[in-house]
Amino acid sequence: MPELRVSRPYSPPSTKLCMKFLLAVVNADDRSSTPHLRSRFVRVYRDWFARRHDPFNGESPEGYYREVCNWWREPESIEKITVEAPDAEFGFEVVILRRKLKVVWSLADMGDERAAKDRIHLNFDWLDRYSRGPYDAPNEDWRLRLMAANSVLESVVSRLKICGNPKCKNKYFIRETQRKYCSVPCRREVEGSLGLDKIEPTRPKRLTEAGRLKISKAVKKRWKKYRLAKMRQA
Ligand SMILES: [Zn+2]
Repeated sequence: MPELRVSRPYSPPSTKLCMKFLLAVVNADDRSSTPHLRSRFVRVYRDWFARRHDPFNGESPEGYYREVCNWWREPESIEKITVEAPDAEFGFEVVILRRKLKVVWSLADMGDERAAKDRIHLNFDWLDRYSRGPYDAPNEDWRLRLMAANSVLESVVSRLKICGNPKCKNKYFIRETQRKYCSVPCRREVEGSLGLDKIEPTRPKRLTEAGRLKISKAVKKRWKKYRLAKMRQA
């Protein structure tokens, strides 16, 4: 009998870890040219996915991926999402999730939060059914982790952004403040090529000591005048 897919005790991942996971999948750390990033992905996230030979609702993962590629499409304005080959460690598991995340991110980035949320809910439906075969207990920890990550995705949907630098290597990001780029180097790269970095930003000027004294004197003078006027009125 195949080994059960439940490794307990399960402890729910933190929001921060879920965010890291989502970013690692969507930015393809598992396909990184940096070996240590690749091996880190496998080490940290191995238990976030079903194993390759688990039953798959009577359907091959490859067939399901084809279906996902048909039904999960990028918005027209976004560059085409490429079809990927499976890998030795995760099979189609990671590429399926990545495809979905890219579609959600693209919709959110172009401001269609509703469509992005609809996709996230579709993924909840799928997680609820997926792989629940005879060897799969209904609450495998990998499924619970993916559900936790999907919930976090929903909670940050308004902050899902794609970096404005076309050459960016980690272009999917979760923004903290209003911004177009994932990082300062990306902003500099784009604005530098447009010559925007030559324009001096308008910063408030620092006051010199003499300037500060002059203002302080003027304020005191105005205040004195005001008080005198009040006294006259009384
Ligand atoms: Zn970037």
